[in-house]
Amino acid sequence: MEPLSGTHKTLRGVLDKEWRIVYTYISDKVVKPRKPHRCRVCWDGIEAGEACHTYRGVESSEGFYTIYFHPECWEYSRDWEDQDWENCPGGISRGEVQRELAEAARLKEREACG
Ligand SMILES: [Zn+2]
Repeated sequence: MEPLSGTHKTLRGVLDKEWRIVYTYISDKVVKPRKPHRCRVCWDGIEAGEACHTYRGVESSEGFYTIYFHPECWEYSRDWEDQDWENCPGGISRGEVQRELAEAARLKEREACG
C-alpha cells in the first residue's frame, strides 16, 4: 500500500461528519495493463496490453483500489452521478456504449452545422 502523503493536492474526496474519508479520487490515466481485466462499465474483458483507462481511489472500507475502463466506457461514464453506477458493471454492453457515443457525436456535428 502506498502512503497518501504527497498526493493530497489532487484529492477530491468525500468526508463523513467526523472528517474521515469515505471515498476519494487519487488519479486516473491511460495504461496498457500487463494482465487482463474487466471493464467497470460493461464488464467485457480488457486484454493484456490493450490501452485502457484506470481510476485509482481509496475508500474507508476497502482501502486503495484501481478500476479499469475501456476508453469509450470511460468517456461514456465521465459525467455519471452515483445512481448511474447502480446498474453497472454489465448494465450496458460495450457495443451499446460505442453506439451511444457515435450517436452523441452525430448529434453534436449536426448542431455545429445547423
Ligand atoms: Zn467497457
